[in-house]
Amino acid sequence: MTGRATPRSGALFERAQSVTPGGVNSPVRAFSAVGGTPRFIRSARGAWLTDVDGHEYVDLICSWGPMLLGHAHPEVLEAINEAVARGTSYGTPTEPEVLLAEEIVARTPVEKVRFVSSGTEATMSAIRLARGFTGRDVVIKFAGCYHGHVDALLASAGSGLATLAVPGTPGVPASAAGETIVLPYNDRAAVTAAFAEHGDRIACLITEATPGNMGVVPPEPGFNGFLAQTCRDHGALFISDEVMTGFRATREGGWGLDGAVEGWTPDLMTFGKVMGGGFPAAAFGGRADVMGRLAPEGPVYQAGTLSGNPIATTAGLATLRLATPEVYAALSATADTIIGAVVDALTAAGVPHAVQRAGTMFSVFFRDGAVSDFAGASTQDTAAFAAFFHAMLDAGVYLPPSAFESWFVSAAHDERAVATVLDALPIAAQAAAK
Ligand code: PLP
Repeated sequence: MTGRATPRSGALFERAQSVTPGGVNSPVRAFSAVGGTPRFIRSARGAWLTDVDGHEYVDLICSWGPMLLGHAHPEVLEAINEAVARGTSYGTPTEPEVLLAEEIVARTPVEKVRFVSSGTEATMSAIRLARGFTGRDVVIKFAGCYHGHVDALLASAGSGLATLAVPGTPGVPASAAGETIVLPYNDRAAVTAAFAEHGDRIACLITEATPGNMGVVPPEPGFNGFLAQTCRDHGALFISDEVMTGFRATREGGWGLDGAVEGWTPDLMTFGKVMGGGFPAAAFGGRADVMGRLAPEGPVYQAGTLSGNPIATTAGLATLRLATPEVYAALSATADTIIGAVVDALTAAGVPHAVQRAGTMFSVFFRDGAVSDFAGASTQDTAAFAAFFHAMLDAGVYLPPSAFESWFVSAAHDERAVATVLDALPIAAQAAAK
C-alpha cells in the first residue's frame, strides 16, 4: 500500500498495539478508515513532520487544528522554555491565565472564561452550566457535529425528529442520551419542531460554529442567528462550540464569519486547540450572568487540577499574540491555492468532489454536489479517498486519515511546502480515479 518503507513506524505500531487499544491514544490517529500503518512522528518544524524512519511530510493535520503558526515556532518555544524554567504547575492562580483570558475576551463576544484541559471538558462543563442556569435538562445537538466524548453528546438520533436520542456508543447510559435530541444540521424546521414539542425542558442547544467534524459544512446563511434567536425565545442557552474554529477559521473564530457581521452573540462558547498552542488547554466562556453561576461565585461545580496550567496558557498566549490579521490573510491565501489545485486535479482525473470551506478551514468531499448535513457527508466514496490519502502520503503529504475531517494549514506552509502538495495532487487524483 505504501511506496515508502516505514519499518520503524511498523515496529512501534506492533508494540503500541500490545499495550494500548488499537495502538493509538485517540481513534482517528489509527488508519482504520484508510488502512495501513500510522506514521510515528519523531519531530516537527514549521509545516513539516519527520517520522521515525526519517521521511518528511507536509503536515495538513496541524495536530487537528492547534498548530496555527506551524510547529516549533521560535517565539512560542522561547515563551514556553522561559515558563518551564520557572516550574511547570503550581495549583495557584497565575498571571498567564489572566493574560490569556483577557486575550480571549478581547477577541470574542465572551465576557468571562474558565480554563479546562480539553475540548471535551469545555463542552461538558458548558452543558452542566447551562443546565444549572436554566434548571432544565434537555440538550439539542446536530448529527455530524462532534463536541468531544461527553456522554450526553455521544448520542444518535432516536426514531423520529424531535424525539429523545439513544446512546451513540456502548458505555453511554440510555439515561444520558435520553436527555439529548439529535437533529439534522441546517434544518430549521426540525429545530422549530423540537422546541415546539420540548421547549420548556430544553436547557441548551449546542452546535459547532461551523461544523468541521463531518468535513466542513458551513451553516446556511442566517442559520446560527436563527438558532440563537430560537433559544432566546424559549429561555434556552445557545452554546457555540468553537473548539475547532476558535482563532482558526478567522481571527475571531467561526463567530467572525456570521455573528460578528449579523450582530448576535452566543450565550456560551467553548474553545480549545489553537488557544493552547499545542498544549492541553481549553476553555468555556460567555455571558457574565451565566458564568457567574459557576463555583466559587455560584453553585454550579466545576474544577481541574491542571486547569489554566502556566505552560499551556503561556503557549496559548504566545500563539494568539502572534496570530495577527496578516497571519490569517496568509492562511487564507494558502487555502485558496491548495483548494484550487485540489479542484483542478480531481476534475482532470474525473473524480467526483466538492470542496467546502469556512475561513481558513476546508475539506474535500469525495462526492458530487454541496453537502449541507451529515446524511450528505455520509454519501462519499470513502474508497476513493483512501486511495487518494495513501498516494498523498507516499508523495510526502500527511492528510487527516479520514474523508470526514477538515484539512488544516499553518502560517509556516511556505512555497516549498505548498509546492510539495501541488506536485502530489495529480498523482493522488489518478489513484482516486481507479
Ligand atoms: N468540540 C469540537 C468542535 C472538536 O472539534 C473537538 C475535538 O476535535 C472537541 C470539541 C473535543 O476536544 P478535545 O479533543 O480536546 O477533547
